[in-house]
Amino acid sequence: MIRTHKTTFRTNKKDLERLFACNRISAQVWNDCREHAKNHHQQTGRWINLSKLQQLTRKTYHLHSQSVQSVQERYLKARRNAWKARQKGFIDIRYPYKEKKHYPTRWKKDGFVVHPDGLIKLKMCLNNGKRQPPIRVRVADIPKGQIKEIELVWDRRLMLAISYEDGRKPQENNNQCVAAIDMGEIHGIACLADNGRVLVITSRKLRSQKRLRNKKYAELQKKLSRCQKGSRRWKKLRRALAKTLQKTEGQQRDILHKSSYRFVKWAKTNQIGQVVVGDVDGVQRNTKAHKKNPKKKHRSRKVNQKLSQWPFGILLRYLTYKLAAAGIDLTEIDESYTTQTCPVCNRKKKVSGRTYRCYCGYVEHRDIHGAKNILAKHKYGAIKDLGIKITKVTYLRPTG
Ligand SMILES: [Zn+2]
Repeated sequence: MIRTHKTTFRTNKKDLERLFACNRISAQVWNDCREHAKNHHQQTGRWINLSKLQQLTRKTYHLHSQSVQSVQERYLKARRNAWKARQKGFIDIRYPYKEKKHYPTRWKKDGFVVHPDGLIKLKMCLNNGKRQPPIRVRVADIPKGQIKEIELVWDRRLMLAISYEDGRKPQENNNQCVAAIDMGEIHGIACLADNGRVLVITSRKLRSQKRLRNKKYAELQKKLSRCQKGSRRWKKLRRALAKTLQKTEGQQRDILHKSSYRFVKWAKTNQIGQVVVGDVDGVQRNTKAHKKNPKKKHRSRKVNQKLSQWPFGILLRYLTYKLAAAGIDLTEIDESYTTQTCPVCNRKKKVSGRTYRCYCGYVEHRDIHGAKNILAKHKYGAIKDLGIKITKVTYLRPTG
């Protein structure tokens, strides 16, 4: 199975400069993609595709051709995802519009050479017909297994994310039960299986951490708005802001890893062979803040995204590879209306509070209600009463 290992590296000053330059060129490729896409659409009324992009930018950049192609593919993917989200009614989502200054560069299989002693040569393209020497970096802990891709990422410093095949086969799994997950803000994971088992993993800790951070972030932002851009104090505050974000991001990753690990363990002991999850595409689901205070809607997008987005996307990614390792299938389905609809009488209603209560007498814990409807949608293509009798409810916390 493919895994990723993020690690530091050593190199000389000149090559370090070149590495920084690589991520600047990748950003340029991205920005050009955006421009070409726009022009193409204005001229032809159609969306640009990969081969057209490649044709327009051939031999423009001093990067390995596969590295260039990788940026272009990621751009097209981002645009496709935005389109999908908009189709689903998330009209707030914009197509890639931001001007990037740095963007992670990737070297694919022909773009690098790895030596067993830890030396990695990252290839560049020809420059005016002259071959540029590869960038040489040294990594202390090269993962064992076939390396598929190397990505140059920024995480407080430049680091390498090495994707490799660890040679392990997924576990054999003959389980027959199906479980549906509803991801929510308070209960990170609420899951109902068709054998009557329920698992709830709370994410209160994550939420309180986020709140704390939001408060700190808002304070810093307020101070920042009062100083002159580019001043010494401004720079200092900017650094503090970045640090706050990074710290909670680390804590968040930890909690999400633990949650997903616990979920998979539960799924294995409860004979789950398939997991269904509402397809949220990493899109911000909670737009309550907007409704309560419409004026706040125009708070900068960046802040909005960083503050209120509950990390569905990251949790989904962790679940995907951990479940795959356990031989459990993961299916995403369209989850629209699953939180609002009553499975008994099909009336729709907005939920408030922790319990879903319908006029017809149906009552269910809000998150379990969502999981129930996702399961019904998966099994029958429609929301209806499954008649599952809940036999055992397990509550877990991601920590402790
Ligand atoms: Zn009802």
